[in-house]
Amino acid sequence: MALAIHNLSKTYPNGVRALKDLSLNIGNEMFGLLGPNGAGKSSLMRTIATLQDPDSGTIQLDEINVLKDKSAVRRVLGYLPQEFGVYPKMSALEMLHHLAIMKGIASKAERNQMVDALLNQTNLWAARKKSLSTYSGGMKQRFGIAQALLANPKLIIVDEPTAGLDPAERNRFLNLLSSIGSNVTVILSTHIVEDVRELCPRMAIIANGEVLLEGSPASALEALRGKIYSKVVATDDELRALESSFNVISTHLVGGLHEVRIHADSSPGQEFRPVDSGLEDVYFLNLTHHAARSAAIN
Ligand code: ADP
Repeated sequence: MALAIHNLSKTYPNGVRALKDLSLNIGNEMFGLLGPNGAGKSSLMRTIATLQDPDSGTIQLDEINVLKDKSAVRRVLGYLPQEFGVYPKMSALEMLHHLAIMKGIASKAERNQMVDALLNQTNLWAARKKSLSTYSGGMKQRFGIAQALLANPKLIIVDEPTAGLDPAERNRFLNLLSSIGSNVTVILSTHIVEDVRELCPRMAIIANGEVLLEGSPASALEALRGKIYSKVVATDDELRALESSFNVISTHLVGGLHEVRIHADSSPGQEFRPVDSGLEDVYFLNLTHHAARSAAIN
């Protein structure tokens, strides 16, 4: 399904402007919504999932007016919220049956088939009779996807699903997401650049409730090709000196040294070497530009 979001704004009662006239178009694909904590990702996800209303703006999901016809959205929606905190002393098997009934799947045979297939798909079959409260973080997230996939949703929203997972669990989870298949719109909200790089043919970067960039990771990378340079420095003083004279995108500690990446249209000299652009460069560059613009305005 295609999702058209137009001019969405939301200010919470405490005065925080979480969404500022935000517009986005999302097609039948895995769409990465990348942004730092506090960017407004969950606010946007909850609004699309019909759990909260914006102050203004429209959302259209194919023929469905999302803000008006909430029950129609809920019939095609699978949602894994950021805080998926209810882990009762029920087993995964019981809980999925319970949720399937709530989703209106009345036939026991149909439910059995659906629940068993999901438990297999999410690799939880062996643990299906264990209490959910005993599940590890990775198992809980896989259960979260299983419940989101009940009743063949056409729009799937997963909000920060890999935060807190260890590398093996994260890998398993991303593989699971990528197996969901085509003909489904999946929105993956995350602050982890690698999640988007590995899975998403299209993405948007958002910060402070605004879209900073929308497009494919490949074209964003192409735009930076030949413009990223790197150098390793040993001391904090050297690092500060570089920060004052170059457009520093990021610094990483590598073996106790600072690896500095800068953005420059041509070779900056000073022993900088050209390096391949990465999606993290795209992300940090957009965030620093945005921060500089905001500072200039305020
Ligand atoms: P993200 O998911 O990208 O971390 P959120 O949508 O959770 O961003 O938050 C965006 C901003 O709105 C943050 O400044 C956050 O503190 C604020 N916010 C989120 N939910 C509420 C709420 N219910 N009431 C007040 N402020 C909120």
